[in-house]
Amino acid sequence: MMLAHDMTLLKTLPPVKGDYFENAPLANLIWFRTGGPAEVLFRPTGDNDLKTFFEALAPEVPVTVIGVGSNLLVRDGGVRGVVIKLGKPFGNITIDGDLVTAGAGATDVAVAHSAQGASLSGLEFLRGVPGTIGGALRMNAGAYGAEVADVFVAATAIDRTGVTHTLGPDEMGFSYRQTNVPPDWIFLSGTFRAIPGDKKTIQEKMDEIQAAREATQPMRVKTGGSTFKNPDGEKAWKLIEDAGCRGLKIGAAKVSEKHCNFLINTGEASAKNLEDLGEAVRRTVLKKSGVSLKWEIERIGDA
Ligand SMILES: Cc1cc2nc3c(=O)[nH]c(=O)nc-3n(C[C@H](O)[C@H](O)[C@H](O)COP(=O)(O)OP(=O)(O)OC[C@H]3O[C@@H](n4cnc5c(N)ncnc54)[C@H](O)[C@@H]3O)c2cc1C
Repeated sequence: MMLAHDMTLLKTLPPVKGDYFENAPLANLIWFRTGGPAEVLFRPTGDNDLKTFFEALAPEVPVTVIGVGSNLLVRDGGVRGVVIKLGKPFGNITIDGDLVTAGAGATDVAVAHSAQGASLSGLEFLRGVPGTIGGALRMNAGAYGAEVADVFVAATAIDRTGVTHTLGPDEMGFSYRQTNVPPDWIFLSGTFRAIPGDKKTIQEKMDEIQAAREATQPMRVKTGGSTFKNPDGEKAWKLIEDAGCRGLKIGAAKVSEKHCNFLINTGEASAKNLEDLGEAVRRTVLKKSGVSLKWEIERIGDA
């Protein structure tokens, strides 16, 4: 699909070491496996490449960063400007005593495993979050009774002018599934405090988390995880179930039978199908219970 704007952005972008891809499909980079392309996709080779890019980038060019797209719905018209994908060059994990530092491109699961390998406990919950450290920092990701804020020590982030900042808990301003960090800052790394533990016990906890996921969530499907945030004192899935939305469908978009706060792309659902379904659920829940659900999944791009 072509974007409805001129395609000259690429020519205006700064020279970098990494790769630019024009009109690049994003669906394969997003868990829902649907949605439009990026006007330009940029895969930087590391922190310095990002710095070079931002120092010379025209301020009016929109920039969006993605991890592995496990909390994203990319609308069918695609994303204007530059979409930055942090990949392997940002995947380093180092351990120093009880501190675990991971690049923003490292997966949460890899970080959980590294901590376990070093007999460090406290990061097992990351086994239950299928994103990257960048996404986990941005979303204050949490699972099974713990969240990033609980173990957070510091993060580094680069701003739109190419300046790198070190952030402590105050600067992060963590709250439920969000942070206060300016939306255009890109996390480069995060440092987390663990506590010495027993390798076997840590592994057992991670196995329990995985088993609980298998038991309660749809697995190996095209989904974005929890669609709506839990309202204060309520469970989004319960409100959705009580409103009779379990199994509701629009096109190939479906409310999961197994966990009704999950939307699933059962085949060739468009992003519009999925967003329309989410909005239909919100309307029905509002009518039934008076609660206005808020999207946890981020919707980006043009309809
Ligand atoms: C099956 C399934 C189960 C899930 N279970 C959970 C769960 O238990 N708990 C939970 O919290 N979440 C859960 N999620 C949601 C998702 O995994 C988390 O929100 C995760 O932190 C998103 O990480 P990501 O790398 O995929 O980010 P993306 O989805 O790619 O992006 C999400 C947001 O983070 C921003 N972002 C990504 N990388 C960076 C960066 N380097 N710097 C700045 N911003 C960045 C993006 O711009 C976007 O705003 C689940 C999702 C799925 C599909």
